[in-house]
Amino acid sequence: MQGITVEKALSTYWGYDRFLPLQEQAMAAIVRRRDCIVVLPTGGGKSLCYQAPAVTAEGTAVVVSPLISLMKDQVDALTECGVAAGRLDSSLAPHEQQATMEALKAGRLKLLYVAPERLVTDAFVEMLRKIRLSFVAVDEAHCVSMWGHDFRPEYRRLGSLKKLFPGIPVGAYTATATEHVRADIAEQLNLEQPTLLIGSFDRANLVYRVFHRGDILKQVRGVLDRHKGESGIIYCIRRKDVDSMCAQLKALGYRVAPYHAGMEDEDRKRNQDRFIKEEVDVIVATIAFGMGIDKSNVRFVVHAGMPKSLEHYQQESGRAGRDGLEAECCLFYGGGDFGTWKFLMKDMPDEAREIAMAKLGDMYNYCTGGLCRHRSLVRYFGQDLDGDDCQACDICLGDRECIEDALVTAQKILSCILRLEQRFGAGYTTLVLTGSQEQKIIESGHDRLTTYGLLSDRPRSVVRDWIEQLVGQGCIAKAGEFSVLNITPRGWEVVRGTRTPRLFKPPEKPLKKSKAAAQSWEGVDKGLFEVLRKIRAEIASRKGVPAFVIFGDTTLRDMARRRPATLDDMLWVSGVGKTKQRQYGKVFLEAIADYCRRHANSLNAEDASGEGRRKRDEGRGTTDASIVRRPSGSGVSAISAASMPSRQSSDPRPNLPPARYPQPPQIGTGRRTGFKPTSHRRRHGKP
Ligand SMILES: [Zn+2]
Repeated sequence: MQGITVEKALSTYWGYDRFLPLQEQAMAAIVRRRDCIVVLPTGGGKSLCYQAPAVTAEGTAVVVSPLISLMKDQVDALTECGVAAGRLDSSLAPHEQQATMEALKAGRLKLLYVAPERLVTDAFVEMLRKIRLSFVAVDEAHCVSMWGHDFRPEYRRLGSLKKLFPGIPVGAYTATATEHVRADIAEQLNLEQPTLLIGSFDRANLVYRVFHRGDILKQVRGVLDRHKGESGIIYCIRRKDVDSMCAQLKALGYRVAPYHAGMEDEDRKRNQDRFIKEEVDVIVATIAFGMGIDKSNVRFVVHAGMPKSLEHYQQESGRAGRDGLEAECCLFYGGGDFGTWKFLMKDMPDEAREIAMAKLGDMYNYCTGGLCRHRSLVRYFGQDLDGDDCQACDICLGDRECIEDALVTAQKILSCILRLEQRFGAGYTTLVLTGSQEQKIIESGHDRLTTYGLLSDRPRSVVRDWIEQLVGQGCIAKAGEFSVLNITPRGWEVVRGTRTPRLFKPPEKPLKKSKAAAQSWEGVDKGLFEVLRKIRAEIASRKGVPAFVIFGDTTLRDMARRRPATLDDMLWVSGVGKTKQRQYGKVFLEAIADYCRRHANSLNAEDASGEGRRKRDEGRGTTDASIVRRPSGSGVSAISAASMPSRQSSDPRPNLPPARYPQPPQIGTGRRTGFKPTSHRRRHGKP
């Protein structure tokens, strides 16, 4: 394998022909034997940054990984691609460990995965000195920093790596790290002038939606019903919420399983396996779930309560859509979540609690604020978005329309807070504003206030939500143990009528599809996609590996779009390398042919012509105007190259860094041209 370029390795083993942003630079750093810190968001192809160079380098690369499940998935996935990889961890039987050691000593492994505590033991270091070590990759590198959100003391011991193996490059890889954490990683690992590569924190394929929590079961069912039969995660704050949510959904016939730290290890592991093997659709979990999960086709993540920081939210919601296809992240928050977290954090040491409370405040402002969700998230990590409108969040999609009389409504709310002498919380203030007959209101005489019932024509949950929105926009502050509402200087501007806040209408209309969703299904035969999914599930269960290890959803969609007829055509499908073509090509081809026969559909929906194949062999440089056209009326929609989702990711946004081979839109060369899709237009027969 030595002597080939990373680019060639990428195409031969993984079936990709272009790099995602920063992948090429990250690989080059290792090839040039430089230390590096690579921050690429989930779905950004982080693992490939060290896997591809490991294949091309002489010797074995050691990958440090915090979790056994993560190691196992990665090794399985590499093996499926035809890359020699092994792992050493405590879950292996002695004879398995022995076999891995022998392969390592014989120089047969390109990658070896180990836990951090094992890597720096004397015996292991001694052994690594006897083999040819190409480089060390530290995965989930944020675990090394106390400023990160998932500090692991055992990672600190990796600081000795540079001393133990002088001259061996160390790469640190993570999906989430603020500037502070990045600096700490460099320091803790003793990296020598590391190349710093920070990808965009934006996950363009995710649609973020934030709602005030009402009837949470109904709200969650709304999401589940939009994603029938698809994989998803529902996060709850507390274990008891997990249990009750799970029981209710199960009773309604949903295929769900619970996961939290209060369960027996065995049950937890079983539920996780069922989720990965797609025997259940949805996992209901606390934040204990997820770090070791490398499942790429999670189509939605629901937060039934507010997470405790934006880092957590970025990471938890980031488990959706790792295959680059569209996925939805719905967050349901309530004012009470703030108090719940505050309570759960009460035993933390002072300094840590202060940091945690500040992060909680940022999270709360995110929920209640009226700023584009994508923009809010990337700003938190010190970046910004190009363009005004992400087309993939509740704010930009216009799910949430503003009310017209926002100023007057806000003034009613604020004056009620004043009449209540700034001594009550949001819940009580809502009751007064909506004219509640509750005893406590009557007894305290608050039904005689001039502001009593001022908003009695509005539902209580809506008024409560507006109060939170005003908090989010800095017009109201919550103070003290009981979160009493106080009017801020900004709020006084509203009272005086010199500032107009944004108040949203409650969402009523059906939710719009995001651009990514519309595009990544373009031209895909959904019936065929379901057939292919079943085959994948059968193979995965026979081999005892997660379904996505066989093929990701991106690959199956591309297959159901292209409908290849021959093994050669199969190589055109995104994510099919030579090993997988040999292993699974035939069985998928048969299924496709069978399906097309039954549905009078044509094979080779686009670009499996001899022209196209030759072009693949020649490289991707030339322009080709020829295209094989189906007779019109065949029921098959051919789509232009420009509307094809790109190779590794379906990111539809035009303003990202240029792809590796910038090309004018071409017809007939399919996705191998490597430019970003910019258009939705379908082409039926004629260009
Ligand atoms: Zn937006």
